[in-house]
Amino acid sequence: MSALATISKSSFIRGKQCLKSLYLHINEPWLKDEISEAKQHVFNIGHETGRLAQQLFPGGIDASRGRPQEVKEAVAFTQQLIAGGQGVIYEAAFSDGETLCYMDLLVKMDGEWQAFEVKASTAVKDYHLLDIAFQYHVILQSGLPLTEISLVHLNKKYVRRGEINIDQLFTVNCLRDHAQSIQAYVEENLLEMQTMLAAGQGPDIATGKQCTQPFECDFYGYCHQDEKDDLFTGLKGIRATKIERFRSTGTTCFDQVPVGMPLTAKERTVLRGLFENKSQQDDDNIRQFLGKLEYPLYFLDFETIMFPVPLYDESRPYQQMPFQYSLHRQEHPGGELQHHAFLGCPPEDPRPEFIKRLLVETGTEGSVVVYNKTFEWQRLRELARDFPAYAHRLQQLNKRLVDLMEPFRKQWLYMPGMKGSYSIKRVLPALVTGISYSDLEIQEGNAAGLIYGSLYRDPDPASIRKKRENLLAYCEMDTLGMVEILKVLNNLLLT
Ligand code: SF4
Repeated sequence: MSALATISKSSFIRGKQCLKSLYLHINEPWLKDEISEAKQHVFNIGHETGRLAQQLFPGGIDASRGRPQEVKEAVAFTQQLIAGGQGVIYEAAFSDGETLCYMDLLVKMDGEWQAFEVKASTAVKDYHLLDIAFQYHVILQSGLPLTEISLVHLNKKYVRRGEINIDQLFTVNCLRDHAQSIQAYVEENLLEMQTMLAAGQGPDIATGKQCTQPFECDFYGYCHQDEKDDLFTGLKGIRATKIERFRSTGTTCFDQVPVGMPLTAKERTVLRGLFENKSQQDDDNIRQFLGKLEYPLYFLDFETIMFPVPLYDESRPYQQMPFQYSLHRQEHPGGELQHHAFLGCPPEDPRPEFIKRLLVETGTEGSVVVYNKTFEWQRLRELARDFPAYAHRLQQLNKRLVDLMEPFRKQWLYMPGMKGSYSIKRVLPALVTGISYSDLEIQEGNAAGLIYGSLYRDPDPASIRKKRENLLAYCEMDTLGMVEILKVLNNLLLT
């Protein structure tokens, strides 16, 4: 057996997700996908939250000294700090050569050591438990007795009012008992990983669920590069296990559906679209739906951003903060469209102006058409809660919402081009030709949130202007798309 590789906490979690990923990470890291902006954003959030949590135990010394690659130095410095009586250590490093971990917070309380791992989530997740158990193992191996090891995460019930209250912002979960109870499991897995790495050959593992759960693997592009699109690529509305069965049995028509495989009515509709290119239309339900609409009609869409640490008063960790809306108004059927838009101006809290403008521009009468009502309904409820002076009017507005997604979610209209999805990004191009998100700089809501977030740090006026134009164009597309979808539904009943 050659010298054992050092397995860090993140490598251990990676190896638990997929041994091949661990092998590639150690031996062929250049095959990784480029880090997307969204992933980088998640990393940044993790680091920022970790730094903020240091305020739970102020006055500590950072053992990593900001140079995580210098492992030996960090481990030696940690030992030096412990021996020297330093009671609070940030990024304390431990390693026995085979394993390595950096502990976010190491604190001596009443003469005994306690360790704290900080996560930017709002709950303890399954993979956090493994994470904690691994760190417990490494620290004990190093010879430091720990009386407690805990996971610190954001408290989703915390409401900011004035300066951040660090003690209320974070929740501490003691997990020593759990960490102790799975030590044998950690050791077994470490042995399996070390054995695999020492063999010097990557394991032959097929792509599957593990490529995206619990995280998207950064070798996704490499491992999936030879996979060709087939009939089922991108198909929604059918359980993944059934799709796998269709693929493995070569099913391309109803006659070939494996005997004994039950299909729901909705799955049948999707498969009729896929196998036979058939649409579905339920005129009675579409008519009833259209009959509910009251003019003037408003087509409304929100964009939101989430801040892990609340930036503004009356907001909570990861609250969906509306920063933008697009609104098209139509006085009567077939009438001219009037467009209104709002886009916040960082670093101001966008919500007060958002509410004032929205309430004026939506008036007091007429249906407010949204796509996926739960989202806008919930945001309006939160705005009413956080800004009670407007609560009554926001509640009234909420009562006027009509969900344009309903006819598609319930398959009153189904087209093969929807491929089982009722998201507006699939429904719109399936119904209307010549209108597409692909020409826009921003093509989906998460990207809009990231770009709005970048405005807080962007010093360049030209870049800010461009980003604002793109955000406005993207949001307007959603409401224009709704206008077009409604037109299609109306025209269907005329033909
Ligand atoms: S993409 Fe999937 S199979 Fe490939 S290394 Fe990652 S998890 Fe393993």
